[in-house]
Amino acid sequence: MTNYVTHLESAIDGTRLEADRLQTMHAGRPLWVRYDLDSVRDSLTKERLQQREPTMWRYRELLPADSEAAIVSLGEGMTPMLRCRRLGDRLRLSDLWIKDESQLPTGSFKSRGQAAAITMAKRFGVRRVAIPTAGNAGGAMAAYAARAGMEAFVFMPADAPSINQFEAQAAGAKVFLVDGLITDCGAIVRAGIESMGWFDISTLKEPYRIEGKKTMGLEIAEQFDWKLPDVIVYPTGGGTGLIGMWKAFNELAAMDWLESPTMPRMVAVQSSGCCPIARAFDKQERFAEPFPEAQTIASGIRVPVAVGDFMILDAIRESDGTAVSVDDNKIIDWMSRATAAEGISICPESAACVAAVESLVASDWIKPDERVVVLNCAAIQKYSNLAETPPPLVENTADPDWDWIARGGV
Ligand SMILES: *Cc1c(COP(=O)(O)O)cnc(C)c1O
Repeated sequence: MTNYVTHLESAIDGTRLEADRLQTMHAGRPLWVRYDLDSVRDSLTKERLQQREPTMWRYRELLPADSEAAIVSLGEGMTPMLRCRRLGDRLRLSDLWIKDESQLPTGSFKSRGQAAAITMAKRFGVRRVAIPTAGNAGGAMAAYAARAGMEAFVFMPADAPSINQFEAQAAGAKVFLVDGLITDCGAIVRAGIESMGWFDISTLKEPYRIEGKKTMGLEIAEQFDWKLPDVIVYPTGGGTGLIGMWKAFNELAAMDWLESPTMPRMVAVQSSGCCPIARAFDKQERFAEPFPEAQTIASGIRVPVAVGDFMILDAIRESDGTAVSVDDNKIIDWMSRATAAEGISICPESAACVAAVESLVASDWIKPDERVVVLNCAAIQKYSNLAETPPPLVENTADPDWDWIARGGV
């Protein structure tokens, strides 16, 4: 297996950095991983790709690992691309799809980024990793650290979903709850880098989580026979996935692999209780202001500060996309409506995307026959804390359906 990485590049000022050592950021901002795309094009064909195993590592020429044996994997990707006619009818869309990332290891797409980040941390000899997390990233990192035999430290808000606390602990991580937000957790991790010997796996503070998340874009392209959809709708916290998909599409374009004439319009969706990116987009700024008193039930996008804010906003603008915020009551509403419409396990963050699609169709920003892909990032089962009313006990139900069953002598 050949590695096609040529170098790392500062996203803020283009400075070139060596890729053969552990790197973090440059000038306090994230790094891009760059590849020799001409050589990838010469050595890989679409036909050969199709014969490979259905995991994200099928795209290994466009990933940083330098030997198959070095890959730390739990079998992540490829995830189903599901046509949604019933939900599409409600939204007045004829070509709506959900890419169901809830079926990945640890029940969220964070496993893609962590598979790549932990693979590379291990390659460079890291023994102890630490992460501030809204929840799912911590669960995924703990699992991949366990798989790699590393020590893991996870810091999450005290009100992060209890499943996230449990899954990280179960995977052997040292988990700490913080009375605050992911930004407060981040300050603790930063403070411990020197004294605790931690390597910081925070969103975009090492270069490889983007590469893992990029595989969502590669899969979307392959699943649609290299004809990209018109619109991609993504719940945006730190933005790794949106940035990664946009990078994937540009790499495929540089390789001449795309068969669609245009790129998708990228839509970043946030909750109105925490929408720094949507605000910066509206104000036509390249950098976002920290969002004060961030609050939303969609815990995965409760991220008041994103170190890659300009990378998200650049991708949205380059793609002719937009950024939208939606209210939490719409999120709650669409979480069960969309799950019930299709049977797909829709997380609150992706319910926010469905709500955003509803308003973008209403404003005619999305046309009824456009092909729209919504990413479903995690399983609804991870959010048991949001369950409102449990089903009734048969003994004291007043449900008319139960009367009928009882009369039938069941
Ligand atoms: C992390 C997360 C997001 C946000 O993803 P980013 O790529 O960090 O913006 C959205 N939804 C869920 C369920 C998540 O866990």
